[in-house]
Amino acid sequence: HLYNILQELRGNIRVFCRIRPIFKFEAKSCIEYIGNDGSLMVFDPCKSQNTRKIFQFNKVFGPATTQGEVYKETQSLIRSVMDGYNVCIFAYGQTGAGKTYTMCGSSNGSCEELGINHMALNDLFQISSIREDIKYDIHVQMVEIYNEQVRDLLAEDGANTKLEIMNCSGNGGLSIPNASIRGVQSTADVLNLMILGEKNRAFSSTAMNHRSSRSHSVLTIHVHGKDISGNTIRSCLHLVDLAGSERVDKSEVTGDQLKEAQHINKSLSCLGDVITALAQKNSHIPYRNSKLTQLLQNSLGGNAKMLMFIHPESDSHGETISTLKFAQRAS
Ligand code: ADP
Ligand code: MG
Repeated sequence: HLYNILQELRGNIRVFCRIRPIFKFEAKSCIEYIGNDGSLMVFDPCKSQNTRKIFQFNKVFGPATTQGEVYKETQSLIRSVMDGYNVCIFAYGQTGAGKTYTMCGSSNGSCEELGINHMALNDLFQISSIREDIKYDIHVQMVEIYNEQVRDLLAEDGANTKLEIMNCSGNGGLSIPNASIRGVQSTADVLNLMILGEKNRAFSSTAMNHRSSRSHSVLTIHVHGKDISGNTIRSCLHLVDLAGSERVDKSEVTGDQLKEAQHINKSLSCLGDVITALAQKNSHIPYRNSKLTQLLQNSLGGNAKMLMFIHPESDSHGETISTLKFAQRAS
């Protein structure tokens, strides 16, 4: 009975946990992965056995899980975008825990491991090409949120424009009408735009070394479908690469880095507040407290579906616990 209530609360939020393989140079893993029921046990290797804590997810993917196996679990959710649902997919975890690997994949010389983004796009375009009852138009936007400012990553000249987020009413309104929007016909079209986006992201990173892990990037696939009798659907898929969630020791950074860390902490905690409020079905959802939650508003609440990939860093007990605690707020 309690389990049913939890499921009910969870609503359209699904939380998956993915543990990457441990590297040779890392200390012993602090994660004990338990079976197939979505639970995960963590312990502190420096302390006695009774530090064990159990966390519960919709699914836990162990280190041997392939990209294809992960995608298979998300496929129906992603396909529902083509039926008019707004969907949002995040990767949350500290830098190095595997967020980019899950979302964007990796190409290491001989083999290419496609990420969720790539497989999702293949799926969407395939559905678009085989469905005869609906004609689809697909457009893409890509922005970055850095220090609570929104930048267009698809601007041709890499312009450092500060964009406004609008309150888009209805399902398909654009929340950032002034960001570049590009029509796309294939996965390759989108991947090329993502390359441009990453280049623009790096463009402004001269002062900051690891810009890509200190800002959030949001790729939005806008889907517009029209059937034979003229009925339309509008929906979007947000693919979000969040900034690293590691706590920066405030006593050790100053100036730009301190500001950066404060903005990241604030926006991740606002995201956590929104997720908690949604899971508890509160009447007030505090979307307006950060740019990230404002931007994602139409794909977080209501009829939207959300998937969070949690990436604990098995090497670091403290960060792992704080990452997993964040995730538990969704349930
Ligand atoms: P993040 O984006 O969270 O900072 P990355 O995705 O860049 O982390 O991952 C860090 C390193 O670990 C990369 O070298 C990546 O290729 C590797 N890695 C991450 N997840 C996996 C995995 N599931 N299997 C194999 N290697 C992985
Ligand atoms: Mg990354």
